[in-house]
Amino acid sequence: MGSMAPATPEVKLLINGKFVDASDGGIFDLHSPYSGKLVGRIAEATAADVDSAVNAASKAFPAWSALSPAARGAPLAKLASLISDSKDTFAKLEAQSIGRATADFFDAHYASMQFGYFAQAAYATGHSSLNTPGFLNFSLRQPFGVVAAIIPWNAPLVFLSKKLGPALAAGNTVILKTSEKAPLSSDYVAKMLDQAGFPPGVVNVLHGHGQVSGEAICRHMRIRAVSFTGSVMTGRRIMRAAADTNFKRVILELGGKSPVVVFEDADLAAAAKETAFSILLNSGQTCMANSRVYVHDAVAAEFVKLFEEQIRSRKVGDPELSSTSFGTLADKGQWERVTSFVEKGRKELQQEGAVFLAAIPDVPEDSQLMKDEIFGPVVCINSFSDEAKVLAQCNDTEYGLYAAVYTKDLDRGMRVAKALESGMVGVNCTSPTGAWDLPFGGYKQSGVGREGFLDSLNDWLENKSVFMRVKGLESAAAASGPLGR
Ligand code: NAD
Repeated sequence: MGSMAPATPEVKLLINGKFVDASDGGIFDLHSPYSGKLVGRIAEATAADVDSAVNAASKAFPAWSALSPAARGAPLAKLASLISDSKDTFAKLEAQSIGRATADFFDAHYASMQFGYFAQAAYATGHSSLNTPGFLNFSLRQPFGVVAAIIPWNAPLVFLSKKLGPALAAGNTVILKTSEKAPLSSDYVAKMLDQAGFPPGVVNVLHGHGQVSGEAICRHMRIRAVSFTGSVMTGRRIMRAAADTNFKRVILELGGKSPVVVFEDADLAAAAKETAFSILLNSGQTCMANSRVYVHDAVAAEFVKLFEEQIRSRKVGDPELSSTSFGTLADKGQWERVTSFVEKGRKELQQEGAVFLAAIPDVPEDSQLMKDEIFGPVVCINSFSDEAKVLAQCNDTEYGLYAAVYTKDLDRGMRVAKALESGMVGVNCTSPTGAWDLPFGGYKQSGVGREGFLDSLNDWLENKSVFMRVKGLESAAAASGPLGR
């Protein structure tokens, strides 16, 4: 008798509206970091698959871009509601692939908001001008054609929606490359696209590693823009690939080493609760997690006590249980990376103790723990007494994604917010606090470009200036009459 165990899901590529194997039949296995069980057999896209996806997207582009914004919005709105209706399934898929606690999962709501917003927001406009005598001049915003989105594993649905929503609303056709560590949720979205009403080829979904498919996308001559969220190292490679090939537009959302400054007059309980939440969310695997906390000397001991209470209140366990508030790290490689940082740090500081949920006090500013993005539940807590000095320490990094300040003195709060070299700053709040309608992105090596409801559409549109000679407009003075002279 055959086994009654459910078959392991086979995840295929979506090219031109059809689910297909990789051109060379390649697959890779995906295991749950919690149970070790096989949770997916994933097709590994080849360079030929990238070509096929580009061909499908090129074919779909003329009809898709010719639709009115409202007509393009209809499938986006439908996708928003399909995603929202399946939030529990998405939470489970992320728990299976990266060990993310389902209790932490907000991504389906986030994705639904993105697609819902861009379903309505595709009315891109340029501007017009009568400032050149003899001309009516105007600019047009038009889609690029075939574009690509490359996403990381830590919150795949968030990044998929942040990129696909505006790219599609703008009239582009898209190739999405998922992360090799977390392709399941994107595959689930791929399966919704037909029901949502997207014509074949408008969205193509490829799975696989950076080598080969990621690199092939970034080097492709017919892909005109790529938006990437991931590490600085990969961002650098992507920009280099674009420069070596067709100068495709590159949008980069990269890593962080986000500082928080807690002054002596801060609401300490709130600061401890929120800074702990920030570094523990998604097992510390969040780009904007506050991994460096500077607390004023006068309240440092009390803050550390409150912070440790917050850490201890977390329940570590099976990510699929609603009682679990802290799942696992994404995989063995991630575990080894994080623990090696902590071990090195402990040696440097000559400390002993458990590594995992680590709050490390008094770390030298030049330590690797203070400089590198660890991307795990590790926070360095240092004390300070001088505002100018602590701000210099906060800014002494190549990252600049998120920073925060806690103080009841709002003059000081604003002074510090202005001085922090960071794309986003929280005053009496910290990451992941943000706002839909404000730009998301980083200073320095934390990124290039900004995403957000009011910003993202621009990422996906070309700008065309049209100069139209018009008889009768030759003289600005004559045209504007006696009062214009
Ligand atoms: P990563 O850079 O290793 O991989 C991200 C994606 O790039 C994956 O899909 C991967 O397959 C692909 N890739 C790898 N090499 C490539 C190449 N040469 N060409 C094209 N694509 C390639 O990052 P990760 O480990 O998946 O994610 C963690 C990183 O992402 C952290 O540094 C984190 O800070 C950052 N991140 C940033 C933000 C943000 O919004 N700023 C959000 C989440 C994560």
